[in-house]
Amino acid sequence: MTIKRNLRNIGIVAHVDAGKTTITEHMLYASGQIRSLGRVDEGTAHTDWLEVERERGISVRAAATVFPWKDCTVNLIDTPGHVDFSSEVERALRVLDGAILVISAVEGVQAHTETLWRALKEMKIPTLIFINKLDRIGASAERTLDEIHKVLTPAAVPVQVPIGEESRFAGVSGIWDEEQRAGDERLARAYEAVIDKLAERDDEVLERYVQGALLLAPYIRDRFVPFVHRAELVPVLYGSAIQGIGVRELMDAVVEFLPAPSGTDESPLSGVVFKLERHQSMGRVAYVRLYGGQLKNRDTVLIANRGKTEKVTQIRKMHARHYEDTGLLYAGDIAAVCGLNDIRIGDILGSAAAVPPEHRLSVPLLTVRVEPDNDADYPRLAAALQELSDEDPLLDFQWMQNERELHVKVMGTIQLEVLSSLLLSRFGLTASFGKPAVIYKETPTRAGEGFVAYTMPKPCWAVLRFHIEPGERGSGLVYESRVRAEDLLPSYQNEVERRVPEALKQGLYGWEVTDLKVTLIYGEHHVYHTHPLDFVVATPMGIMDGLANTGTTLLEPMLQFRISAPEDMGGRILSDLVQMRANFDNPAVVSGRFYVEGTIPVATSLDYPVKLGALSGGRGTMTTRFAGYRECPLELGATRPRSGVNPLDRSKYILSVRNAISRE
Ligand code: GDP
Repeated sequence: MTIKRNLRNIGIVAHVDAGKTTITEHMLYASGQIRSLGRVDEGTAHTDWLEVERERGISVRAAATVFPWKDCTVNLIDTPGHVDFSSEVERALRVLDGAILVISAVEGVQAHTETLWRALKEMKIPTLIFINKLDRIGASAERTLDEIHKVLTPAAVPVQVPIGEESRFAGVSGIWDEEQRAGDERLARAYEAVIDKLAERDDEVLERYVQGALLLAPYIRDRFVPFVHRAELVPVLYGSAIQGIGVRELMDAVVEFLPAPSGTDESPLSGVVFKLERHQSMGRVAYVRLYGGQLKNRDTVLIANRGKTEKVTQIRKMHARHYEDTGLLYAGDIAAVCGLNDIRIGDILGSAAAVPPEHRLSVPLLTVRVEPDNDADYPRLAAALQELSDEDPLLDFQWMQNERELHVKVMGTIQLEVLSSLLLSRFGLTASFGKPAVIYKETPTRAGEGFVAYTMPKPCWAVLRFHIEPGERGSGLVYESRVRAEDLLPSYQNEVERRVPEALKQGLYGWEVTDLKVTLIYGEHHVYHTHPLDFVVATPMGIMDGLANTGTTLLEPMLQFRISAPEDMGGRILSDLVQMRANFDNPAVVSGRFYVEGTIPVATSLDYPVKLGALSGGRGTMTTRFAGYRECPLELGATRPRSGVNPLDRSKYILSVRNAISRE
């Protein structure tokens, strides 16, 4: 078999509370996978795995489940909705062939919905929009659709009309049935709207339309589907998940409008790990999306990005409440693979050829210190954080052994609550978190050179000269060596290249140095005196010497923001914005509401969304997304104490590194 026409890999994405978990629950119920309906509010939903999810009623981890619908198998990935867990969503999006974007008909398009939409659009993921909660007081299908057209995309086009609204919401009617349409003006109008949107994009349809030809539903549908597959048109559906209204129609739409995976069983093995779970008896379980080839129990697979092999012991399909040991995974499919003990998120199985590139929605902008409540737990806490960091690499756990300090990076404060709850439930550890601090960076101020001659105290010999120059904002580190192999052995050159990023972890002010080019322009080893570890010792000295010469400029994280508030608050908000060092465009007032957009430092605006909500009695909102790093005067930013001995303090540094190395 080549293309799996009867398979769908889809995800449900939405702002928190839009109703994803409820929809999933009803899908599993409708497909016969579960016999009773769980409720998020009662902590009984089947896809909320973790204790913290049950307690707080939010989904934290993407849960993959499979269910049959019509003649298809649907792999469904339920993604967390809170902004703090964007890294999970991001990893899930990478492996989807289609998505359902849920929007509440009461709250409408939220900031996070916009972020998600932007990612779906950039990755060209075919999407269905489900407007949920039409039964609730204050729900409006028309207003929500309007907002979608204005804020997200004009390509959204309803393929249903809702029957009634709020307490009178009674169901949905599809637009495809000719007879129904003949007797219902709203259906006829919705059908016309689909033809309009299609004719704007499809010349054949346009021609027939202009000629006044009869445009019957089967023909229009056939022409419509490829545009959805290319993410150029977005079908809109309606419902009330909690009452199970519209869910079956949504499932039909998944089968009908979202594409099957491509990829063949005959091609070389190519897959990616997009999620890790810890299992009491099986250890690490890796969720794998396979793009090419096949995977079987007892296969030995190459982890391409790390150049090692591991053995598969079991391949499982996860159902709502049980798993099935299938022993086989085909191209295009998703399953939980056991036995890969040293596997990490993002690892590539086989070759990377067929795997789509990674996509970054979010970057953690805050760093926080973790301390065990009981000092004796310190080593266990470090091990636990390392394990959690393997599962979520963005946590970027740092263990500063000299200071006995543990640090992680986070997106926001809800993530801290979840971490603390995970530490307790999974590892039996209680820990406290310090106050989250903004993560600054540094970049060289001007070009310059760094030199080191590590030839004393003997025996040692490593001489290096680096050229360091500032790079464009967002370019990260670019490294190059212009040294000939005769002067410096390739193995030593490799060692230097490996150590440069590490040496840049702490610049003159204690922050990571980024957006620069480092060129090794001179290097020398000694046939007798050079020990392989000499370049490990020397590289940081050469780099730090360079930074001392170039000087560094502080960079601070910025947010793109949009504020909407009652008109009379405009003056107050503008003066707050100036105080917070924001840059903003001309504000606008539309029907009694004040709008302003711009960029603002994370450091000054962390609490502002909450403050604005309080000031305006809940009628003002501020939405933000990460907008990159920007230069910041030192006196307005912050420095961080250095961890370990500074390589600029030469003799003390050499002594400390030599001691550490000889102890290893
Ligand atoms: P998630 O955070 O997106 O997974 O959303 P949940 O499924 O947890 O739902 C959030 C809340 O909205 C819960 O209290 C649900 O009971 C409620 N809810 C979900 N769908 C509907 C709906 O269609 N109508 C109403 N009235 N409430 C809903």
